[in-house]
Amino acid sequence: MGRLQGKVALVTGAGSGIGEGIAAAYASEGACVVVADLDAAAAARVAATIVAQGGKAVGLAQDVTREQDWDAAVARAQAEFGDLSVLVNNAGIAPCADPIETLSLADWRRTLAVNLDGVFLGTRAGIRAMRAGAAGSIINISSVYGLVGTTRAPDYVAAKGAVRLFSKAAALECAEAGYRIRVNSLHPGFIDTPMLERGLEQMSGKGIVPDPVTGRAAITSLHPIGRLGTPTDIAAAAVYLASDESAFMTGAELVVDGGYTAR
Ligand code: NAP
Repeated sequence: MGRLQGKVALVTGAGSGIGEGIAAAYASEGACVVVADLDAAAAARVAATIVAQGGKAVGLAQDVTREQDWDAAVARAQAEFGDLSVLVNNAGIAPCADPIETLSLADWRRTLAVNLDGVFLGTRAGIRAMRAGAAGSIINISSVYGLVGTTRAPDYVAAKGAVRLFSKAAALECAEAGYRIRVNSLHPGFIDTPMLERGLEQMSGKGIVPDPVTGRAAITSLHPIGRLGTPTDIAAAAVYLASDESAFMTGAELVVDGGYTAR
């Protein structure tokens, strides 16, 4: 028996990086997985890979900032596999932002729309879908930058910090209402994904680092453990939070950062 046998999971932004790793790990632990992503082809590719390996998955196009996409995603999960029991609000963007004094309102709002509004809409949809069912788990992917600050990312830090406290508010509401839904936030350090690659390219283009290779080494050195994280590192924590092994955890923050925030 897998650790997630009998569970139905929806993972957003699962066509790439951390979300892809979580979707694969969930399926290998026995969950039925809805692989959702802005990029329909990427979602279909990840789902097909899982199915080819003997797992249960379906791919779905979804923009987490659109309310109607949430209704459709939850309905699809229900139609394909039955009641939703796990939701991972993973989709996010991390643009290399301008300093606050020159950051445009449009850029600020875009980051908050995906990284915070998307988590709100997802958590709301998840509670509505799970409140009448058996044990549910909502996992909101924040960041070390939901715990500590940095430069060049005021919009990202604001959104990820808000996700941390929003998750606690949702956990308390669910507990008070008597719903068997746990809500926790997960805080990765730097993880080797396409998002990191794009960030390094952007920082290099803006002259913040001399080149992506030097930038990667500098970022790696921020992690006392001596390496960047992998999607598998985060997926292991996400399996734990989705499983009944974490039944006494809600409103908590799980930090998986190679020691980044230990200093
Ligand atoms: P990634 O490789 O860029 O994957 C993110 C996925 O989300 C992409 O497939 C992207 O699709 C999708 N996405 C973007 N906007 C979306 C939207 N509006 N609706 C639905 N899907 C959308 O990034 P990642 O590194 O795996 O990051 C996943 C999560 O972990 C993010 O929340 C990120 O902030 C967080 N995180 C990452 C790191 C890190 O170092 N990588 C560290 C801490 C936290 P497109 O490619 O089509 O845009």
